[in-house]
Amino acid sequence: MPVSRGVAIGRAVLVASSRVDVAHYYVAADEAGAEIDRLKRARDAVAGEIHALQRDMPRDAPAELSALLDVHLMLLHDEMLTDATKHWIVERHYNAEWALAAQLEVLARQFDDMEDDYLRERKADLEQVVERLLRRLAVDAGDGQALPLAAHEARDFAGEDPLVLVASDISPADMLQFKKSVFTGFVTDVGGRTSHTAIVARSLDIPAVVGAREASRLIRQDDWLVIDGDAGVVVVNPTPIVLEEYRFRQRASELERARLDRLRHTPAVTLDGERVELLANIELPGDAPAAVDAGAVGVGLFRSEFLFMNREGRLPDEDEQYEAYRAAVVAMAGLPVTIRTVDIGADKPLDRLSVAELRHEHVLNPAMGQRAIRWSLAEPGMFRQQLRALLRASAHGKLRILVPMLAHLSEIRATFEQLARARAQLDEAGRAYGRVEVGAMIEVPAAALQAEMFLRHFDFVSIGTNDLTQYTLAIDRADESVAHLYDPWHPAVLQLIHRTIGLAQAAGKAVEVCGEMAGDTACTELLLAMGLRSFSMHPSRVAAVKQRVLRADTRRLAAAVHRVLAAESPATEAAAAFGSVQAS
Ligand code: PEP
Ligand code: MG
Repeated sequence: MPVSRGVAIGRAVLVASSRVDVAHYYVAADEAGAEIDRLKRARDAVAGEIHALQRDMPRDAPAELSALLDVHLMLLHDEMLTDATKHWIVERHYNAEWALAAQLEVLARQFDDMEDDYLRERKADLEQVVERLLRRLAVDAGDGQALPLAAHEARDFAGEDPLVLVASDISPADMLQFKKSVFTGFVTDVGGRTSHTAIVARSLDIPAVVGAREASRLIRQDDWLVIDGDAGVVVVNPTPIVLEEYRFRQRASELERARLDRLRHTPAVTLDGERVELLANIELPGDAPAAVDAGAVGVGLFRSEFLFMNREGRLPDEDEQYEAYRAAVVAMAGLPVTIRTVDIGADKPLDRLSVAELRHEHVLNPAMGQRAIRWSLAEPGMFRQQLRALLRASAHGKLRILVPMLAHLSEIRATFEQLARARAQLDEAGRAYGRVEVGAMIEVPAAALQAEMFLRHFDFVSIGTNDLTQYTLAIDRADESVAHLYDPWHPAVLQLIHRTIGLAQAAGKAVEVCGEMAGDTACTELLLAMGLRSFSMHPSRVAAVKQRVLRADTRRLAAAVHRVLAAESPATEAAAAFGSVQAS
């Protein structure tokens, strides 16, 4: 499945899911020696650890244990591991951790291919040895390692090839750390188009394909890959002719981007004069400048849960959150910023678990379990902490609070109760705070069906089409095996969206769409025709959607809506009906 547009061509870097958090950066050629020394130090330290284990082994310990540690020592000193890892450092300029992880991938495959059961099972020992080495390197890194080089600096190395990351799965939290990474494309085996891993991949704005199932098994370290992020195609070791074709497409897509870039400061107004608001979805305050740059007129969705990830249990306190929210508001310089309260759970766990690992957790059905507002209301102290931070940040600009996954009136009441208590606590502490508008995500079918009630309680609503599709069709958005049935064009989903937009307009309340549909140009006309005038999407999509808006005539589009809503089947048929009406 394609998740992020464009074409990437590069060498495969295979990364095991559990090792995605290994630091990946380049080291300058004259620092390769120092990097190899780090590796040697780590190797000597690990050898010392293993010798100590053998020395301290109780007398009655089984003899196999000591023999196993001998195997570990052998593996540690085997040139398959040591010399080859140096090769990645010297020839490819990888840092020691990355070189080690790369070599482990190569060796792990050789072990997998072995006929002999005993030898094949030694892979686990090799992994343990590498794990020990990585841990030692992490300790060593604490005292002054070479500064990482960013991707653009890395290009200064003569002959450096662009790199494409291949992994079975990557957690949203890990994906986040690739924001400044060296990779020019991604392929993963699992995931759906609107899984959070895919959403973060899209926010990196580099070509990506997910749900490729066998990719990480079939592709080998260093293979040449073409990632077609528009079509959802991965070509392994392309022939020169295929490569040439994709290089041509790559240039064409870069030209198209440059052309779209020129629309950045053009107001989004349809041919018939309807003003449309194009807002940005962000994950961290640091993304705000990119949103302004892209021409977004505000932030429609700041997914605050990303501030809560990878914290090893220590969640951000009120002050830290306040600083983050304030930074986003200040960076947007007077433009509105909508911050959603934490939406932890489902495919966005607090720690680094990937979707594949989550499936082995004991949560029966995480998408329907304790997530989003349910989690917040179950942890009222934490929820109020976030609300106080948001209220305080609202003194610095136009901040709106958005609440995810609401379905019940009791949840709405409880949310406002916590908000009132948060305000009272700030009053008591004598802290300043501003006025905020409060909105609800409409992303559970029950909320769309009760939109009137939601509109009575909230200042605005924002339609989360990713979850609305997931819950209306009962399709796990992160599960590639049912991804063909995940279809926001299903008439049932469209009816709920249409109904919500219509009722909000009738109530005179603001309504937005902030799911992936808002940034999908195939949906722009349809949403405009339904009356939507506010779209929130990843900054990289703003220009392309704006181009659609500039070419649209909402008066002509209106008639097509009824045909799409009345369609019996989704996707292609409905889309075609809509397209043909437009064309006629
Ligand atoms: C949605 O569900 O459409 C949405 C915008 O929220 P998220 O993708 O973070 O679940
Ligand atoms: Mg959602």
